[in-house]
Formats: sequence, structure tokens, C-alpha cells
Amino acid sequence: MVLPLHGWETSCRSRSTEAKNLTDVGHTKFSEIPGATLATQNQINRFQFIPTSCMLCESSEADEHYVITKFKQGDLHFIKCRTCGTVYQNPMPDQESMREFYNSQNFFNCTTTSDELTGYRDYDGEEYTRRKNAEKRLAELESLYPPGRRLRILKVACGYGALVQLAREKGHQADGIDFSDVMFAGAQERGLELIHADFLKYDFGEEQFDVVVLYGAINNFLRPLDVAAKALAILAPGGFYVVNHVWPGSMPEILLRSHYWIYRPPIIGLYPKRAFQQYHVQVGFEHHCSKYDVQYLTCDKLFGYLQIRPLLTAVDKLGLSRRGFTIPIPGYAREFFRKPD
Ligand SMILES: [Zn+2]
Repeated sequence: MVLPLHGWETSCRSRSTEAKNLTDVGHTKFSEIPGATLATQNQINRFQFIPTSCMLCESSEADEHYVITKFKQGDLHFIKCRTCGTVYQNPMPDQESMREFYNSQNFFNCTTTSDELTGYRDYDGEEYTRRKNAEKRLAELESLYPPGRRLRILKVACGYGALVQLAREKGHQADGIDFSDVMFAGAQERGLELIHADFLKYDFGEEQFDVVVLYGAINNFLRPLDVAAKALAILAPGGFYVVNHVWPGSMPEILLRSHYWIYRPPIIGLYPKRAFQQYHVQVGFEHHCSKYDVQYLTCDKLFGYLQIRPLLTAVDKLGLSRRGFTIPIPGYAREFFRKPD
């Protein structure tokens, strides 16, 4: 899976209003997926932490940034790298803690107070939004190539596979890979075959992709540059790696400081835009372009996230809950890296 993230995406999801049940779109709910049984018993998984150095530059020179004490997973120590400005957890959750987290009820269906909302409020209930985002993202990928070109696409941390499914419907050859048992089962149940494996360990053989995409997850990976190197290895010459990420010191962080919703257990690091680009160039990419991340949001999701209850009630009464729009997401950048010819 995804090592999902999901900085903004998760937080946005986690604070959304009571999401509509999946029955809205004709699917069973998370709790009904066989693979979810064990995970749902795991209400709060306390993390094991291990020491680390900076994920980008590997320096250990750092200053304290925030200590977050409100999560039952354990106290989170975020520090800021003196060399490249990355803000990261040290110690950080180990791989097994992350794996359990992404298979847990706590991630997919948070039902407790806001302090414990560390994952999605209702992952299943937001499929409609994911489908709308997938349409915009796929159109953007297609625009990187001449019109009508059939693309070989790999979506990393693909979740239930909304983008993969859409890409296949439009004639592309698309694959998705996710290590989460829950995500894999959910996709299967939707008739979608995905690769159930850890992206970093999976052997793609001779496969060469035109595009490797990773949305809402790189801030959850323990080693983001390992992800970049793997993407580079499986791309065709001239192919693109598209990744969005959360950066430190954005307007939400300036306003909210340690209360910024990004400072949650599964967020391993926040990467300054320039450093993120530079270290990907060191891995072997050309930096193609950088954009603000934009996402499609529905009214109920946006107002729920902002916790504006009167507006929530109003849009509900007016039947506008599912009315959506696309807005830039503060603190979130989308980067396009190109493999040299
Ligand atoms: Zn650093």
C-alpha cells in the first residue's frame, strides 16, 4: 500500500464529516472485507521507534522542532535537519509499526476523538472523491505525452485502485501496487487485480513504465529516496515520476505550529521543496516541473475538515453535500521528475 499518507489527504479525510457509507457506491464496507478481521481488533497500535538520520541528506545534525504528546502510538519527536531543512521523526516508527498501522481499524475507520484521528475517518466512504481526483490526475499524466498515446502506468501505494481502474477504462496499460492486505482485498472485491507487494522489494523484471505515480504517500515512506531510485530503475528513458509531498514551514504550519494536522504518527518527514528536488536530481532524475497540489473536494469534506458546522448543516439541507470543486492544497507540492533519455 500505500504507505499511505497522506499528509493533507489523510488529515482532510480524517476530519471529514460522517462520510457516506460505501453502500452509496455499491461496495461492501471495510469491516466486511475478510482481510480486515484481524486488523479491526487492533484498535490502537503503539509504535516501536528506531533512531534515524535525515531521510534526504543523511546528516544527524538537527534541532528540536516539535514534541507531540497526544497520540497513543507514543510521543512523536520531530526534529529539523540543519543541513537540508527536512523536518523528520527521530526516533521514527519502524517498518513493522507502519505495516500494522495500515492494516488497522485506527487507520481506516477512526471513530474516536480528534486527538486519535491519525488515519482516515472513513476510507471507504470517500471513494467518490478519489474517483474525481483520479480523473484530473490521469488527464494530467496524459498531457505529458502526445494525444492518444497509450501509456504504461504504475501507481504506487494505489489503495483500492481508483486511478488504475480509470486508466484501464481509457485504454492505458496500468498497474497498481500496494502492500496493504486491506487495500488488496478491497480492490479485488471491486474486480480489480493489483500487485500485492512492497514496492521497494518487488521485482518488476523487464517491465518499463512511461509513468510512475505516487500521491499522498511519500511522507510516510521511511526512505523516500529509495522510492525514487526504484522508480528511476523501472521507468523507460524519458519517463516520468510524479510525486506529491508535504513541505515544512507552509502557511498552515505557521498558523498552527505543533497543532498542524500533519504532525501525526505516520508522517515520517516533511521535505523542503528545493531540497526534495535537488536530492531527486542526485538520484538521477531531471527536474521537469513543480506545481501546487490541487485536489477535488466536496462541500461536506471541506467544511467538515474546517469544522464549520453551520455550513455543514446548510449544505446538507440544500442537498449540496456532494457538490465539489478543485482547490490548491496549502503546504503540498506536486513534483514531476523525468528520467533522462
Ligand atoms: Zn537533511
